[in-house]
Amino acid sequence: MKRKILALEKQSRRLESTPAERARWTKKVNAHAANFLEQLPDLQAFAPLGDKGQPLENHPISEESMPLETALNLLEKHMDGIALRPASGGHLGYIPGGGIYPTALGDYLAAVSNQYAGIFYAGPGAVRIENLLCRWMCRLVGYPETAHGTLTSGGSIANLAAFATGRDAMKIRAKDIEKSVIYLTEQTHHCVQKAIRIGGMWEAKISYVKMDSRFRMDANALERAILADKKAGLRPFMVVGSAGTTDCGAIDPLEKIADLAAEHSLWFHVDAAYGGFFLLVESEKHKFRGIERADSIAIDPHKGLFLAYGTGAILVKNVQQLFETHYYKANYMQDAAAHFDEFSPADLSPELTRHFRGLRMWLPLQLFGLRPFRAALEEKLLLTRYFYKEIKKMGFDVGPPPELSVIIYRFVPPGASLEMANEFNARLIKLVVDDGRVFLSSTSLDGVFWIRLAVLSFRTRLKTIETALAVLKNGVEKLLAEA
Ligand SMILES: *Cc1c(COP(=O)(O)O)cnc(C)c1O
Repeated sequence: MKRKILALEKQSRRLESTPAERARWTKKVNAHAANFLEQLPDLQAFAPLGDKGQPLENHPISEESMPLETALNLLEKHMDGIALRPASGGHLGYIPGGGIYPTALGDYLAAVSNQYAGIFYAGPGAVRIENLLCRWMCRLVGYPETAHGTLTSGGSIANLAAFATGRDAMKIRAKDIEKSVIYLTEQTHHCVQKAIRIGGMWEAKISYVKMDSRFRMDANALERAILADKKAGLRPFMVVGSAGTTDCGAIDPLEKIADLAAEHSLWFHVDAAYGGFFLLVESEKHKFRGIERADSIAIDPHKGLFLAYGTGAILVKNVQQLFETHYYKANYMQDAAAHFDEFSPADLSPELTRHFRGLRMWLPLQLFGLRPFRAALEEKLLLTRYFYKEIKKMGFDVGPPPELSVIIYRFVPPGASLEMANEFNARLIKLVVDDGRVFLSSTSLDGVFWIRLAVLSFRTRLKTIETALAVLKNGVEKLLAEA
């Protein structure tokens, strides 16, 4: 048996790398990354779909090893080079991503040391880093000391964890589900509906509360809906407010919703995945008033802190409630139970073993300090306001004035019907995407086709916005000339 073990060891040792190999690989990967970043400013934000990555299929996972050069070459040609480049400053669609470089270094270090960030006993330093980040975000939203949270992979999972926590804290049992009511608006992010379904409450009543002309929840309509539901023998139990909707950046009237939630004993959740970090900009703080009264909050560092994709957070005002829904007991964890200086992320989240995702957030915040983050966020707000002003001058119809950094607008050719205008804007956006220098996305509100502008990439500059305006202007001229 020993001989067999030693023979296997000889092969399995291949999984360890020599210092020379590591140096060579790291150098190559670094050069690849540097090359990507150097080219990025001149590359299209949206490149043609090309081969859609199909050639990657020609290299199935096999017994044979692939040289690093071949692997990097495949990535460059069939992954980096096609479709959306989320790292580009020209990404002005959906909610843009970022990718500040130290995030990558944090990921690298987390992977090399493979710190165990699930349990305090196993990785006290790593857990402390994640927890101090959560406490920092709790202070940012104005939560008291009883609050805490955990880092998730993104906003969807944060909203899911919040929903499950609210469901349990409100003691919804199986027999209550059909009578339970959850209040959203048509602008609530779809991941909340997904959370309701995954959270076992798809049979509950979802009530879509009327919005005002700026796509914010109408608090009076919410009150009427709650009263009517109560009268009908239903049980209102949760209201979800948005602090920055994905479609047009609207912030629901959080203070008024908090009043109603308190009066009618509802769980008040705020989805601040997109907008939350604008709290770092002093002049915007008042717009979020009432967020500190939410029972739970979802916020996305991979949006508002410009991290590469992979980090969201859930914050709960009374951490005990988050714990009750997620804590974990197992015989094989008994050694860890004695150590409770800090909450273990595994007790506050559905995950046990997971990526040490705190380092990718801690390292950039430490390296840069907060000042440039605040400046970048304010810069994005002003760029949005500038675009709004200019696009109006160009004769476009505009949606509500910018609350944060997402707005909607459309061009209506003289005398065009709704259908014709919708088609015109669909064609316009296609021209923008085909041009590729900037990437815009669209939405439909009450049957009206709108083009969006979402400014949240740290690489978006005044020059980018001027390009976007020019591309739209040329597009309109071209389409009008064709008509
Ligand atoms: C992006 C977003 C989400 C979903 O977050 P992911 O990180 O993409 O999972 C939820 N709500 C709002 C308002 C968002 O903008």
